[in-house]
Amino acid sequence: SRVKEVEFVKSSARARDCPKDNKPEFAILGRSNVGKSSLINALVRKKEVALTSKKPGKTQLINHFLVNKSWYIVDLPGYGFAKASETARMDWSSFTKGYFINRDTLVAVLLLVDASVPPQKIDLDCANWLGRNNIPLTFVFTKCDKMKVSKGKRPDENIRDFQQLIRQNYKVHPSWIMTSSVTGLGRDELLLHMSQLRNY
Ligand code: GDP
Repeated sequence: SRVKEVEFVKSSARARDCPKDNKPEFAILGRSNVGKSSLINALVRKKEVALTSKKPGKTQLINHFLVNKSWYIVDLPGYGFAKASETARMDWSSFTKGYFINRDTLVAVLLLVDASVPPQKIDLDCANWLGRNNIPLTFVFTKCDKMKVSKGKRPDENIRDFQQLIRQNYKVHPSWIMTSSVTGLGRDELLLHMSQLRNY
């Protein structure tokens, strides 16, 4: 499960523009500011790679990164911009949902959830939507190193609350991985998890 090589392949505006070489892929999804770029950078240990998607105009695109010439990490647009208009949110959902439903090579979605805040409705809604559409899902909790959160609960408490809410809505329990891009927690576990799913 080692990452030897990562290459940015392309940004696509629509699902049908995505690479067609049938390699397995993992889509990384989450609210903006959840720590997606940091996690992708930590996974591939290459600072410049995920930054591509942060360039203006690229945040609303599907960005494909080829790992070891054999599988893709797919950086999807973040959801839940506080300031986004209703129209912008609708655009996000129709465009991204089209990708999920039509992408045969999608092995699993890694849904990033910020462990430093209480469960957010938009994350639960997203998980429920994926579950209803039978899209394989792994929860990746981010920022698990943030032990001192002003006022709120600790990451382990937020994670427990989130898991409880999910258990009420799911028949099959998705996998959970705790990560921190600061300490490197969960990196190897996540890479191993992805390699197991690819070979399944
Ligand atoms: P994105 O918008 O989802 O791509 O989020 P970023 O990767 O840009 O991270 C958003 C903010 O959270 C930045 O200020 C990061 O430094 C911070 N951040 C990201 N990951 C972690 C983490 O694992 N631990 C802590 N403490 N902060 C993080």
